[in-house]
Amino acid sequence: MLRSSFISGYNGYMSTILTYVPALAHTKQHHPENHARLSGLMPALEMFGILEEVTAVVPQLATYDQLRRVHTSGVIDYVRQISGQGGGLLDAGDTYATAESYDLARLAVGGCCTAVDKMMTGEAKNGFALVRPPGHHAESDRVSGFCLFNNIAAAARHAQIVHGVERILILDFDVHHGNGTQDIFYEDDSVMFASLHLYARYFYPGIGGMYEVGTRMGHGYTLNVPFPAGVGDVGYLRAMQEIIMPKARAFQPQLLLISAGFDAHWRDPLAMANLSLKGYGWLTQMLIELADELCNGRILFVLEGGYQLDVLTYGIINVFYSLLGRDEIYDPFGAAPEIEKDISPLLEQLKARYL
Ligand SMILES: [Zn+2]
Repeated sequence: MLRSSFISGYNGYMSTILTYVPALAHTKQHHPENHARLSGLMPALEMFGILEEVTAVVPQLATYDQLRRVHTSGVIDYVRQISGQGGGLLDAGDTYATAESYDLARLAVGGCCTAVDKMMTGEAKNGFALVRPPGHHAESDRVSGFCLFNNIAAAARHAQIVHGVERILILDFDVHHGNGTQDIFYEDDSVMFASLHLYARYFYPGIGGMYEVGTRMGHGYTLNVPFPAGVGDVGYLRAMQEIIMPKARAFQPQLLLISAGFDAHWRDPLAMANLSLKGYGWLTQMLIELADELCNGRILFVLEGGYQLDVLTYGIINVFYSLLGRDEIYDPFGAAPEIEKDISPLLEQLKARYL
């Protein structure tokens, strides 16, 4: 029987939670996805007055069963085996493991599941899981794109199985398409996957086109917004207002999970999008308002990419400010130097296909 207590289980104690898994021992020299992305973050969160206002949640190691809800035993055992041998490359695309990576990747998954527990039991309203390694490229049966296990997918399944949540919206604003999350829920009508990403020739992972809409029961529950290079703040906000929000309102999710990547910023070294920190801030505020409207405020941000460390730090600070209900957005870098690309033709195509 599905539990429905989460619908009214809010006890009035509103707080923002933080799960922190910096995974210091999962790191590789000269690799963009290394421990420095999170290891220096805490002094900044303290300096900006965030640590004193949020509640830290101690992450738990995910169990084998929690991983098996979204991955095959083959890929779980493969990561465990390579890690057990001291680590090494897991694929041809520079996805790596160290001797500690299996346990740290389980901790990242477990941290997200624990955050879901806090929100579903009414102990917290919203939160941010600052975890590594990232997860959204990890497919059901293979690691991919620096991702070992799919943190956000496991958190969604945990919310469904343990807390009886029936409809979950996963919104992915990392600049790369969340191929792993799409793969895991492609035939599922209980988890809508919506992705805003760059879709260009030779740009990783090379899928996420508008014709990928889900299959079988999941037909219509995958929503891809494939931006051209040069998309900026206006393009992202228009896509949210004109495509994502109407689809979300029609779906009526009870929980909002966000794959938060900060690599769509114009200063990021890995991509060619032109979002600013202000644009990220507006996007975040829209998502929080959407959660207030549809999900009783329940929204969990889960860190994915973001490789320019100053942008990543300010991006995270801005998300926390929004979660805490503050209006300020820090943007010391300003708008992209180029005029952004107009995406009106793309939006018209998407409206014709999706709405
Ligand atoms: Zn990315």
